Amino acid sequence: MNTLHLKSALLPSGWARDVQISIADDGNISDIKTGIAGATEGCLLPGMANLHSHAHQRAMAGLAERAGDSNDSFWTWRTTMYGFLDAIDPGHLNAIAAQLYLELLKSGYTRVAEFQYLHHQTDGSHHENIAEMSLQTLEAARSTGLGITNLPVHYQFGGFGGQPISDQQRRFANNPEQFLAIVESLEQAGKQDQNVVTGIAAHSLRAVTTQSFGEVLAALSNTEALPIHIHIAEQTKEVDDCITWSGSRPVEYLYQNFDVNKNWCLIHATHMTEGETIDVARSGAVAGLCPTTEGNLGDGFFNATQYIEAGGKLGIGSDSHISTSPTEELRWFEYGQRLVHRSRNQLSGGFNRSTGRNLFDIAVSGGAQACGHNSGAIEVGKRADFVVLDTEHPLLCERQEDELLDSWIFSGNENPVRDVYVGGKRVIDNGHHANEDKIQQQFRSTLKTLRTIR
Ligand SMILES: [Zn+2]
Repeated sequence: MNTLHLKSALLPSGWARDVQISIADDGNISDIKTGIAGATEGCLLPGMANLHSHAHQRAMAGLAERAGDSNDSFWTWRTTMYGFLDAIDPGHLNAIAAQLYLELLKSGYTRVAEFQYLHHQTDGSHHENIAEMSLQTLEAARSTGLGITNLPVHYQFGGFGGQPISDQQRRFANNPEQFLAIVESLEQAGKQDQNVVTGIAAHSLRAVTTQSFGEVLAALSNTEALPIHIHIAEQTKEVDDCITWSGSRPVEYLYQNFDVNKNWCLIHATHMTEGETIDVARSGAVAGLCPTTEGNLGDGFFNATQYIEAGGKLGIGSDSHISTSPTEELRWFEYGQRLVHRSRNQLSGGFNRSTGRNLFDIAVSGGAQACGHNSGAIEVGKRADFVVLDTEHPLLCERQEDELLDSWIFSGNENPVRDVYVGGKRVIDNGHHANEDKIQQQFRSTLKTLRTIR
């Protein structure tokens, strides 16, 4: 039994003072008491899940910022990315993911959904264990203490309608049988660990067919609450190509052909009509937004105000990891809406309500749902995944309750995250991780190696 005792905490019922939390040996919250004297300074928040990560892209963050030709776009970025990842082997992936996960923890994420499609060797041949690369991200999460929802990615084709994959895509490709072997291996490795969830992803409607992903879903139909993620409508070109191929927009096509429910997470549901926006909100699925990456790639703006008004669920992800901060994602999410509507406080949820609080509540809850994990609220029976903010930090001093969240999210780039707990274990202690020097050293030497061989 472990106990935390802090001056303030954000509970499902709202802000509470002098809160004592008991954590059972299994890492779940066993008791909550308020109004107990003797609390230490600090503000306890439920941990935020990062619902979309491609860990290997952390190694190339910042390397695609030179102008290409006049059509410089997502698709030229993708060429840079393909060139870079050609060199990454299992050991490199482990070192890159460990550095990334360390950064995510220190910024206040307690869980990551790892959308992992880099499965095979450069020539497309399989590792001795076909799940080797995804096992490396699992190992990196365990070694840093970050919770993980592993999402091995089904990627079989090179374009809409089952086009053949290109040579550069051979590392990603699996038929349903091979893909299910990866899922099985990850399930075995993650079994009985309450910080680990195994889900699945379809890379996109470009990379699977209704038949191939349908086979995968049928084989896993007995798995309860299986998280299912897909990249859906990030770029207008993707929308146009989908219409040319099928006559439908990507979200429309998905809903026509799959039973999309609350287990699903639609990554980059950026380009939706009003009708699609309402359909996604009503289905209970989570929209996964990655505002810094979407801004970096010039994707466009998500229809957030209408979606939230319709009761839609959403969460945030760091995707390409040009930012590893949850507050920067939330800030840009709100700023995008302000720029579109030329008005302030778009996502506050009502008159005189705190925008930071509303964004935080929505993203914590949507993130936990998308990750299929029993976290996202400080209540008895939930996982003890928490962030403690340093309320003595110059950014937060003389701030209370919702003001703490507004200042953390909207003011400056200092990091006031003091401690982070995952499954009741303190993995960030006063801003530091026990293995951070070793993790950073391995990351540096990995980048040096990649620079030489690429
Ligand atoms: Zn992505």
